[in-house]
Amino acid sequence: MKENTKNNQLRVIYDDVMLPNYSPAYFIPEKAEGSRVWDKDNKEYIDFGGGIAVNSLGHSHPALIKALNEQSKKFWHVSNYLTNEPAINLAKKLTELTFAENIFFSNSGTEANEAAIKIARKFHSAKGQKRSEIVSFKNSFHGRSLLNISLGSSDMHREGFEPLMSGIKHGNFNDLASLADLITDQTAAVIVEPVQGEAGVYAASKEFIKKLREESSKKGALLIIDEVQSGVGRTGKLYSYMDYDIEPDIVTSAKGLGGGIPIGATLTTKLIGQNMQPGTHGSTFGGNPMACAVANEVIEIISHQKFLDGVKEKESLFLKLLSEFEVNKVFSAIRSSGLWIGCDLIERSANDVLNQAYDEGLILVSAGSNCLRLAPALNISNEEIEQGISILKKILLGR
Ligand code: PLP
Repeated sequence: MKENTKNNQLRVIYDDVMLPNYSPAYFIPEKAEGSRVWDKDNKEYIDFGGGIAVNSLGHSHPALIKALNEQSKKFWHVSNYLTNEPAINLAKKLTELTFAENIFFSNSGTEANEAAIKIARKFHSAKGQKRSEIVSFKNSFHGRSLLNISLGSSDMHREGFEPLMSGIKHGNFNDLASLADLITDQTAAVIVEPVQGEAGVYAASKEFIKKLREESSKKGALLIIDEVQSGVGRTGKLYSYMDYDIEPDIVTSAKGLGGGIPIGATLTTKLIGQNMQPGTHGSTFGGNPMACAVANEVIEIISHQKFLDGVKEKESLFLKLLSEFEVNKVFSAIRSSGLWIGCDLIERSANDVLNQAYDEGLILVSAGSNCLRLAPALNISNEEIEQGISILKKILLGR
């Protein structure tokens, strides 16, 4: 921790009063605009973390502020005894733009996945089938509830929280040959990230997702695509399943959907969703009009092909600039899926680099102990990309 600054005064209180489950940067943000953040001591940072793939349109986007302001003057919350126009409009938009016909709103990716598993099990039980098993994959991440740490496979996330949920099998990601045995007539659903983000930005191969679809259909299991991190333009598609030439049964969305406002969505078909009758599931805040008003604007902006093409163009710029890092000396591998880039460090720990980056005015996030994860706003400017990369050069190459 640094000298006695406004950042530190707050940070000391943080350490005293907060549960110690996070280890945040030593500075405290005061304001932010686009892909720039200023801390309590007015130091400026370029934001390559994007709030972990959440600030899809950067900070303080005027259209999102307008949507939030306008809705805030009408009403904030009405509960699910009533519905509201922003939620209806958002659901309509999502059904028009994707495979989905029915939407359930919640507040986070964790909740979106929880709903997905419940919808899948209900679908089978309503048909009088006993199948309840869920297939997930090693190195996956689906959230932090007891269900979702059971779906994931991280020992650190699970230790001390047992017993976990039973009836979950973990296959090997991208291993086509194992799928025929992994998915059986007991499988209710298969859940997969098209790109494993927390693991370090590892994309599923086209063949793997196609085979997953094929085996799931053959055995009568539902295919759930967890697009909590990969969705809403992150990979250059509105949802990245669209890159795989398949129709999913359920898709979960959160993070970038709200552009910084908490929202989760579970997308499915009428056939699968029809059993979720009143009383089967719910959420006090799900479908909140403020969140939905903002998400409407996010989808409106990001769903344009020109915007999505821009994501791929900015990915190319990042990759060009990163290739100048003499890949073999600094990074052992660079993987990207749109504006979502994993760089495996050779010598230094990710934490060490993150801390030095804060000193130099760059916000990064990590994946695991040695991977730098870049997940900036999808509308980051070329100038900001260049500026951030030159800070990274100074840190990693000393120039
Ligand atoms: N699923 C995936 C693929 C994620 O990356 C995350 C969060 O990182 C989650 C689910 C959980 O989302 P949340 O933290 O909003 O509950």
